[in-house]
Amino acid sequence: MLAAHVDAPHRPLRLAEVPDPVPGPGQVLLEVRACGVCRTDLHIVDGELTADRLPLIPGHQIVGERVDTGERVGVPWLGWTDGTCRFCTSGRENLCDAARFTGLHIDGGYAERCVADERFCLSLPPGYGDLEVAPLLCAGLIGFRTLRMAGDPARVGLYGFGAAAHLVCQVARWEGREVFAVTRPGDTAAQALARELGATWVGGSDEQLPAELDAALIFAPAGELVPLALRAVAKGGSVVCGGIHMSDIPPLPYELLWGERVLRSVANLTRADGEAFLDIAPRAGVRSHVTTYPLDRANDALDDLRSGRLVGASVLVP
Ligand SMILES: [Zn+2]
Ligand SMILES: [Zn+2]
Repeated sequence: MLAAHVDAPHRPLRLAEVPDPVPGPGQVLLEVRACGVCRTDLHIVDGELTADRLPLIPGHQIVGERVDTGERVGVPWLGWTDGTCRFCTSGRENLCDAARFTGLHIDGGYAERCVADERFCLSLPPGYGDLEVAPLLCAGLIGFRTLRMAGDPARVGLYGFGAAAHLVCQVARWEGREVFAVTRPGDTAAQALARELGATWVGGSDEQLPAELDAALIFAPAGELVPLALRAVAKGGSVVCGGIHMSDIPPLPYELLWGERVLRSVANLTRADGEAFLDIAPRAGVRSHVTTYPLDRANDALDDLRSGRLVGASVLVP
């Protein structure tokens, strides 16, 4: 099968024919129909996240067809847990000490075929096409978990309007929340998409927001947004960082946190998050804005994401 490999950090993915993977105990073999591209894949390629074995096939928003049953399933980032550690046994499998992640510890979906643990495959809502449902599997899911960690905000700010924000914006609007979209200064394409998806206010991170927020969700990997977001939230408000990697956060004057403001991160997802979001997405009418690339243009997809040229989400098709 054809697959794209990470050989070493800071090197383009290498496309090569390799033997089909063989499912181990509890695993199923999947024909990959589509695989979403996530910023985490870029962090691996750019060496900001360390893979413990190379070469590696990235990709953790996999829409695949089970070779044994023909069923269409989704494979997300959380690929395996031990089920026994104190996190797993307290409903927090996303924090499992021994977790194995798809496209990091387990070869992912930048390939024609892959294997996945049957227990971690998600059923996909039938109303979505393969390309459209792929970004829901990480961007959508993590965005949703990030929103839920913010409580019940009436006014929510989305910092970085990419794959995750454009999906969570639709859930937030459906739930009756006001959305304030903060993009890179001058990113008119992302701003236009935010406006189209119902944001009340759209602007650059250099602009003043017109109202105090109850929560700010940060999806851009830029630590300098943290003090900015803390300044924008009202007393008792939350700033939730949804990404797996972020540049350093500048020193924070305590007064920014004072007033019972909360600053936290969101790490990974649980299977329950997956089921909850894939149940809510069709009811909320969530649609993904997708750019597709053939698998052999995976490097172009990563370059477009890195440079900020991409609007919405990107998906590879083998
Ligand atoms: Zn565990
Ligand atoms: Zn991801």
